[in-house]
Amino acid sequence: MKVIRLCSLFVVVAIVAAVASNYSRPADGADIRGLHTRANRQADARQTTPSFVLVAHGGAGDYSKMSQEQIDERRTTMVRAIRAGYAILSRGGTSVDAVEATISVMEDSGLFDAGRGGYYTRAGVPELDAAIMDGRTLAAGSVAAVQHIANPIHLARLVMKKTPHVMLVGAGAEEFAKSQGIELVSPYYFYNEREWQRFKDAQQAAKNNASALYPPAWPNDHEHGTVGAVALDQAGNLAAGTSTGGTVMKMPGRVGDSPIIGAGTYANNESCAVSGTGVGEYFMRNVVAADICERVRYLHVSVEQAANDVVMKELVAQHAEGGVIALDPQGNVATPFNTTGMMTGAVRADGKISVKGWSTDAAPVVVSAAE
Ligand code: ASP
Repeated sequence: MKVIRLCSLFVVVAIVAAVASNYSRPADGADIRGLHTRANRQADARQTTPSFVLVAHGGAGDYSKMSQEQIDERRTTMVRAIRAGYAILSRGGTSVDAVEATISVMEDSGLFDAGRGGYYTRAGVPELDAAIMDGRTLAAGSVAAVQHIANPIHLARLVMKKTPHVMLVGAGAEEFAKSQGIELVSPYYFYNEREWQRFKDAQQAAKNNASALYPPAWPNDHEHGTVGAVALDQAGNLAAGTSTGGTVMKMPGRVGDSPIIGAGTYANNESCAVSGTGVGEYFMRNVVAADICERVRYLHVSVEQAANDVVMKELVAQHAEGGVIALDPQGNVATPFNTTGMMTGAVRADGKISVKGWSTDAAPVVVSAAE
């Protein structure tokens, strides 16, 4: 009898301990998807061995017509951008902060199709799109078709943080920016000779082809520079972000995949973080970023396999050009692209930044994250 009573006491103590351990975890209201997820267990394990990963891209396309100088400038800027993200992650900062900081540097450079360097619409001004997503909470923010915002990724972050919405577009997004103290810049902020010439050439080509009512989604020069980043921080949380001026000679009001959560940008601690680049219309139709992550989540395939299957099989079968950077909670990275190039850079806790991808056979350039 005594033995039975002792056993029941043990059972009761065990149940109470299990319940208590659940409730003793930090009560972060934003962690809406349960406390005992696979990703959280991995995050717990990681606390003893800090590690982190940051991957950035500078657009899929054809770099072959770019001058060596332009490629070098882009590569140097990507290194600078990754250093900004590395500085945050190495101090224990969040993946969301690192993604925003990395993308902001590329937006400011004027060298990529994002922020200051955004491609022009057929009306001759850039319209910018951006999105950011937090894989821990599934919180997301995005902006589209903004014309006076120097750093759309920052505005997307504010949409995520300060509003009950996920996406704001055009005038409404810019009104919100003003309310947050963001200065609206004039269209001249985005002016540069290279983009103006590209616009004029594209305009001429469209005139020569009067039968085409609308320009192709992906112009002939196939040169692109959408930027994006994915990161895994020391707490084991994923984030993704993308920023773009879209495609050359797009129609005013056209919105691509980059700011559409699940199409060009997605992050979920349960599966992976993805930023895409390519013909946005296909990325939207195929919900590329979410498809990759859901294959990881439901089919239990590796992030490499999921990303390869979507980019190199599904998209190729539809003649859809592009690529992605993808990162899982274990730090595995995939960067498939079906174009001739996609500049990518990556860094881990060892502080070695490796940049590659301006051609399929380009040897990676490795530099230190320490400036
Ligand atoms: N995906 C972008 C868009 O369609 C363009 C790009 O990545 O080059 O807006």
